[in-house]
Amino acid sequence: MKAQTKEKTMREFLLSQKHIVYTEPLEVRAGTTVDVLYNPSNTVLNGSPEVWFRCSFNRWTHPSGPLPPQKMVNAENGSHLQATVRVPLDAYMMDFVFSESEEGGTYDNRNGMDYHIPVSDSIGKEPPMHIVHIAVEMAPIAKVGGLGDVVTSLSRAIQDLGHKVEVIIPKYDCLNLSNVKDLHCRQSFTWSGTEIKVWFGKVEGISVYFLEPQNGMFWVGCVYGKNDESRFGFFCHSALEFLLQSGSSPDIIHCHDWSSAPVAWLYKQQYVHNGLPNGRVVFTIHNLEFGANQIGKAMAHCDKATTVSDTYSKEVSGHGSIAPHYFKFHGIRNGIDSDIWDPYNDNFIPIYYTSENVVEGKSSAKRALQDRLGLHQTDAPLVGIISRLTAQKGIHLIKHAIYRTLERNGQVVLLGSAPDPRIQSDFINLAKKLHGEFDGRVKLCLTYDEPLSHLIYAGADFILVPSIFEPCGLTQLTAMRYGSIPIVRKTGGLYDTVFDVDDDKDRAHEQGLEPNGFSFEGADSNGVDYALDRAITTWYDARDWFNSLCKRVMEQDWSWNRPALDYMELYHSARKN
Ligand code: ADP
Repeated sequence: MKAQTKEKTMREFLLSQKHIVYTEPLEVRAGTTVDVLYNPSNTVLNGSPEVWFRCSFNRWTHPSGPLPPQKMVNAENGSHLQATVRVPLDAYMMDFVFSESEEGGTYDNRNGMDYHIPVSDSIGKEPPMHIVHIAVEMAPIAKVGGLGDVVTSLSRAIQDLGHKVEVIIPKYDCLNLSNVKDLHCRQSFTWSGTEIKVWFGKVEGISVYFLEPQNGMFWVGCVYGKNDESRFGFFCHSALEFLLQSGSSPDIIHCHDWSSAPVAWLYKQQYVHNGLPNGRVVFTIHNLEFGANQIGKAMAHCDKATTVSDTYSKEVSGHGSIAPHYFKFHGIRNGIDSDIWDPYNDNFIPIYYTSENVVEGKSSAKRALQDRLGLHQTDAPLVGIISRLTAQKGIHLIKHAIYRTLERNGQVVLLGSAPDPRIQSDFINLAKKLHGEFDGRVKLCLTYDEPLSHLIYAGADFILVPSIFEPCGLTQLTAMRYGSIPIVRKTGGLYDTVFDVDDDKDRAHEQGLEPNGFSFEGADSNGVDYALDRAITTWYDARDWFNSLCKRVMEQDWSWNRPALDYMELYHSARKN
């Protein structure tokens, strides 16, 4: 099933560029001849009287060099221009750009990334890239938020593509060591007068180096919260020193958010001229809320920067730390780890299911959920909410949606906890009130409980995510993996991944997708009602159609299959700098 999904996603990826470029046949094989079809009207070459095709293979490294530029001719379909290429037997990747004249002039090089199409059946093989993440979180051993999830699941996805991936994190005393295999101390080195022990182990199949400065700065019982800026600054510097002293020479050093931002400037100021010359620095912003100064400085020094969705990259484009560096800033959406979130292999739900038996699978999960939380075992639309309870997540909209769902005779399950004690106690009071007033129809679980979250993703009909802002959001993606229909506010990554069944048909089709949920604009109760009412009405009045929607969302691929390819493109373009 995994291989099939991967293949389908690759096909969709190739087709999604069709309005600009595609090949005939769509799948390029080594040793065959293909036509490249290009539509300049959607690019910077719009209106150019001539277009020249410039092509090579294997990321421009093929021994036969770039082919001579070829003037493109009109294709039969009327909209595209065409060039014909013979693909060598040892090509594993076809690379090309377009220009307005034989000599060059204006180029369409896809904003510096170039066009690349993978070639199958090659006798050559892409040399693996060496990528090192330097980060302060990693799921599940030191996870605080989405950053930890991304470090692990992105690493796994890139490693699956055949590359060498390593992670360097601090050795906190609060690490969850039960998820580290074969942990042992490998070596130690001295930096800045401090001895630093280097531990090594495997986490979810990824090689991880744990740095433990013997001055005790990571023996403070928490990931965040004690002198963080100086602790993490020290960690970043010692991670680079470790790479230098151990003779490692990664192609890409990938750092994340304000906490490992110092890697970007320390590397460029001190290491690039001093023993680590080959690396390029990629910096990813998971949330711009925190550490704007460090983020701005890393943006200035890194080779490429990313954030976790295309729309969020546009939303923050005017920010002081981003705007001057926008030319090297890209949005690549996060994926979910489809092994960890897999209703066909999930021990927290009563029966395993796929899209084929989604109705049966979800109704047994709903009964189990109702049973566990003391809700009536009736057939009612069930809205689930799984969230940190902070202003970002749209608390006032969450509260409104609970009441509105109850008014419409639905059931509500909320799983969430608030880092701010005032918000937590506000929700404790709300829970008491609701549990009294609507006994058996609503349950607020105000804790962090991962196993319960699995049962909610499976047992709910809808998952509500009304965030005020959302860099990417994983909840809506996990919901779809379990056949639950997302109801979201149109912002950031929620906008990029949820397409309203009534309003976003065209936008979905442009991505090669079918609509998959309900969404709203605005940040008031009318907005929520617009999406929630249509969702609940569909459940009551068009159940067959609703069930087919559950099947459809399960069949969409929100894993790392596609974003991992985008990251590889970005890593390659960073190396061209
Ligand atoms: P953020 O990182 O801003 O909190 P994301 O949507 O990126 O938001 O990630 C949230 C993740 O945390 C999801 O995987 C969600 O299932 C999980 N989660 C949030 N709150 C809880 C909770 N109380 N119990 C279990 N899992 C939770």
